[in-house]
Amino acid sequence: MSRQTFDVCIVGAGIVGLALARALSARWPRATVLVLEQNADIGQETSSRNSEVIHAGLYYPPQSLKARLCVRGNALLYEYCAQHDIPHQRLGKLIVAQAGEEPALETLQTAARDCGVDSLTELSGAAIRKLEPQLRASAALWSPDTGIIDSHALMQRLQHEAENNGVLIAPRSRFLRASCQGPGVFDVDVETVNQTGSAAEPFRLRSRMLINCAGLSSQQVAAATGGIDQALIPHLHLVKGHYFALSGRSPFRHLIYPVPDASQRGLGVHATLDLAGQCRFGPDIEPVDKVDYSVDESRKAVFADTIRSYFPDLDESRLHAAYAGIRPRLGSSYADFMIQDEYVHGCPGLIQLFGIESPGLTASLALAELVTLKLQDQAPL
Ligand SMILES: Cc1cc2nc3c(=O)[nH]c(=O)nc-3n(C[C@H](O)[C@H](O)[C@H](O)COP(=O)(O)OP(=O)(O)OC[C@H]3O[C@@H](n4cnc5c(N)ncnc54)[C@H](O)[C@@H]3O)c2cc1C
Repeated sequence: MSRQTFDVCIVGAGIVGLALARALSARWPRATVLVLEQNADIGQETSSRNSEVIHAGLYYPPQSLKARLCVRGNALLYEYCAQHDIPHQRLGKLIVAQAGEEPALETLQTAARDCGVDSLTELSGAAIRKLEPQLRASAALWSPDTGIIDSHALMQRLQHEAENNGVLIAPRSRFLRASCQGPGVFDVDVETVNQTGSAAEPFRLRSRMLINCAGLSSQQVAAATGGIDQALIPHLHLVKGHYFALSGRSPFRHLIYPVPDASQRGLGVHATLDLAGQCRFGPDIEPVDKVDYSVDESRKAVFADTIRSYFPDLDESRLHAAYAGIRPRLGSSYADFMIQDEYVHGCPGLIQLFGIESPGLTASLALAELVTLKLQDQAPL
């Protein structure tokens, strides 16, 4: 690429940047759309380090972006998976209470209804034992619309569709800085990174729209975008979540979640299955100050204690450190997604996404739909 002009420049080829590239290129077939990705391949950060659960939208305050986009995203994602043969399963999940925790299930059911999720049902003790004989629970809710998905297959499909629509996805291309030269005119400095990790001479391109989907680096990208009030950039809290895999046959056939952490810091260490049927547990919660995806085997004992609260027969020797992901959280406990458009920062053509933690995978197609709507006044001629 020499000095080139694009209609849209998206920073970040995670699930959100890819969903948006597909949506915008479908909406504006003649637009030139560029996606900058610093890594050698798409989706190497948070989008490949999560539970791969299609959430139903149970946990978020009504009318929050998380609630609305999760419910809409859930429907869009199942439809998209069916249309494009993306591996997924609508397994359903049990949210389980132990003795004394039962009122939390009632609160959850009411909150879910307020978010438009009417599908939760209470399970009797006999029904719990029938569904999951190895599970210990004094009460449970059943969520039929929760499922699992092959997130890599989803991203590859979105990439394929976007590229078919003419989108240029540029790996090893790191956004350095941008300046707003006037309404809808951004100069963007980019450096390409070769296989050894060293950077070539930076170059400049121009774009009419700039969309920050940089996940854990969204704050950094925003801070390097001139002409924006820096006080608008929300503080980033990195919160790491570790996973442990269970070798051998899974004890469960559905997803198993404890009642959510009362502090709203997380959903609790839950049991999920991948599409091959392997069971894994996680994520836990650890505030960190840098991005480091290592998983320390010494956490196993704490994991095992937590898991035994609903799976007393756990054989700890079958637990193995698996992987970790990092949440780009905007507060120390619950915080909503944040999408800043020109009505927030006064810069037409610029959209910044912050705090796209869970349920960002579920919400990805709905996030893309919303950002596309926000940009409709900028449509290329
Ligand atoms: C532990 C954990 C579990 C989760 N579980 C679930 C779940 O089960 N279900 C669910 O719905 N959601 C889940 N999520 C949330 C979901 O994974 C994220 O919301 C989603 O992946 C965010 O996607 P993204 O595209 O915004 O970010 P990312 O995937 O991080 O993508 C951002 C991209 O931007 C690139 N980038 C950054 N800076 C630059 C730059 N300067 N130049 C060029 N490129 C740059 C990065 O390399 C990266 O590829 C979970 C998250 C975590 C951490």
